[in-house]
Amino acid sequence: MQLNEERIQNIRDDFPILKETVYGKPLIYFDNAATTHKPVSVLHKIEFAYNHLNANIHRGTHYLSQKATEAHEGARNDIAQFIGAGKREEIIFTRGTTESINLIAFSYGEALCDEGDEILISAMEHHSNIVPWQMLCERKKMRLRVIPIHKNGEIDLDAYAKLLNDKTKLVAVTHVSNVLGTINPVRQMIDTAHRKNIPVLVDGAQAIPHIAVDVQALDADFYVFSGHKVYGPTGIGILYGKEQWLNQLPPYQGGGEMIEKVSFEKTTYNELPFKFEAGTPDYIGSTALAEALRYIGEIGMDAIVAYEHELTAYAIELMSEISGIQFIGTAHQKSAIISFTVNGIHPYDMGMLLDKLGIAVRTGHHCAQPLMDFLEIPGTVRVSFAFYNTKKEIDIFVAALKKVVAMLS
Ligand code: PMP
Repeated sequence: MQLNEERIQNIRDDFPILKETVYGKPLIYFDNAATTHKPVSVLHKIEFAYNHLNANIHRGTHYLSQKATEAHEGARNDIAQFIGAGKREEIIFTRGTTESINLIAFSYGEALCDEGDEILISAMEHHSNIVPWQMLCERKKMRLRVIPIHKNGEIDLDAYAKLLNDKTKLVAVTHVSNVLGTINPVRQMIDTAHRKNIPVLVDGAQAIPHIAVDVQALDADFYVFSGHKVYGPTGIGILYGKEQWLNQLPPYQGGGEMIEKVSFEKTTYNELPFKFEAGTPDYIGSTALAEALRYIGEIGMDAIVAYEHELTAYAIELMSEISGIQFIGTAHQKSAIISFTVNGIHPYDMGMLLDKLGIAVRTGHHCAQPLMDFLEIPGTVRVSFAFYNTKKEIDIFVAALKKVVAMLS
């Protein structure tokens, strides 16, 4: 169902925080790429789980523990289904995108990388998809190589194909850039890598909330995302990995749950997915994340994509009237993220003044310092939309931005 004004108003009523005021002004929240708000159904799920399902899972024979285990493992099924995973064992619960990438950088690095090997990332990666690979490269004396991007914020696919070689052990690339909004052609990039038998990890942190993702259709070897960016709770995230890869990798952390048998002489490890889930898992977070995915599934990903596209195009049209504005990232395939600078004005100053008008935007390097260096800018202002945002909010934001620019010029 298309998202018309009435439907959006109903959706907004599901998000209590949108009724907050900031410095006496109604909150306009355009920082959704950093984190999204949570619908009441997710908040209720958390409360319900603590009130009715709280017991440590997997080990208990008692009723409550079994109920909690069912909820947690049921959430795993729902999440597998949401991203089109073939098997529930391929869904590993982590703390978020960052931990998922660190897990693969460690375990894949331990098992399958040697001195002189290469990891290939792109110039538009978030620090979370740079630093773990740098640490691996330092540990194993490997080389981190970088796919350049074009001025409009699209990946240079010719350069990419040339960078893949016999030493490349893995490609790690973002599905959607958190700065430029570029939707990368990851299906095509995966095909290119697979022709050389090189696996690909896709950072889906900014994709899962905004586009339909089917990990099997993409043929991704690893796909990672965070719950908090997709209307779920903080502290929970997902690592999807093809069973054939995950089975080859050693555990990332040791502890309870991930073992089969422990003695002081030797420990054998549990099977998938538990091998990678040491310690008490966030069984409350998992059930709340599954609820968040159910909530957006009910709205419908097609409707979300269409509406957010409309919002983004509307904002770009209005913002284009501002003299001296420069959009950073003008790829043909773009998500609901707009980064910009205005001649002679520091992004931070714009962000500060917009905040005083009740408008939450992000300013700075957006955890992508190498991208800023590449673009030769110190930072940007970034607005990022969710399906609960409205054209009316964009009107207020653009009027405020015009005022702010006039003041600071
Ligand atoms: N990758 C991308 C593209 C992101 O936008 C973010 C969050 N800004 C991350 C990784 C890291 O996510 P988290 O902090 O939830 O682990």
